[in-house]
Amino acid sequence: SIPLGFFGGIGGASKKGILIKGSNYLEALNDVKYVVFDKTGTLTKGVFEVTEIAAAAGFSNEELLKYAAFAEVYSSHPIALSIKKAYGKTVDEKVLQDYLEVAGQGIKVQAEGREILAGNRKLMIEEKIDFTEPKEGTVVHVAVDRKYAGYILISDQEKDDAKTAIQQLKALGIKKTIMLTGDAKGVGDAVGKNLGIDEVYAELLPHQKVEEIEKLFKRKSPKEKLIFVGDGINDTPVLARADIGIAMGGLGSDAAIEAADIVIMTDEPSKIADALKLAKRTKGIVW
Ligand code: ADP
Ligand code: MG
Repeated sequence: SIPLGFFGGIGGASKKGILIKGSNYLEALNDVKYVVFDKTGTLTKGVFEVTEIAAAAGFSNEELLKYAAFAEVYSSHPIALSIKKAYGKTVDEKVLQDYLEVAGQGIKVQAEGREILAGNRKLMIEEKIDFTEPKEGTVVHVAVDRKYAGYILISDQEKDDAKTAIQQLKALGIKKTIMLTGDAKGVGDAVGKNLGIDEVYAELLPHQKVEEIEKLFKRKSPKEKLIFVGDGINDTPVLARADIGIAMGGLGSDAAIEAADIVIMTDEPSKIADALKLAKRTKGIVW
């Protein structure tokens, strides 16, 4: 039988907006030594704003933004939402054909009979488009009919409690805090440094995030447990691979909530430390 104290622990957690899907996860929290975070929507707000539009020769800023908005019509990625908001007009979907969203890269689509590419440097390299890269920031490059049309710079903000969340984990004896991101290395490194995260791995495709988790499993002893915290936008396989997968429930997708072992309803990364403390207290009661 399950000791009563576990119900107290799970109930106490749910009052704080932390939904734990089983007493085994509550118990496993006591052995966590590695906490791995996704960046966008987990440590950052996931609400981007366009800060610069830089058209290349032969294009105007208006055209650049229009083509980017065409490309992003069907995407619910936080980057797509910011571009659609900056464009401000609705796009007649009848002009679009052959839409393809490439996870971790961007979009390919036909619009008004032109081939539009909108995404990061990986997409441009893959498609052999020459591009210019701004020194910092999250960037969406656009190419029209194989010609580079310029880039749109967007920025996100760290969550208010992100720095505290990392400090609290250190104070609780976590060995390593790690951040994985599909975003540019410059952006990842800057956020990691600012928040005091031990290791940052950037420019990762969704399947490469799983590979990073596999590498961590080889570094740690089986007794040491690993948490992955994500918002679930294309990181469901990573949530499933971790010892304990934690999803941000507010922003996260239904698939992520389904795949996760623990759901943080308030989207606050500092709740991870709360969950660890609660597990410790529960252990004291149960054993
Ligand atoms: P993160 O790991 O930070 O959560 P994602 O894996 O969701 O980021 O996306 C990684 C990168 O892929 C983004 O930073 C962006 O460069 C590119 N990307 C993904 N989706 C889109 C999109 N809809 N439009 C433009 N770029 C995109
Ligand atoms: Mg993500």
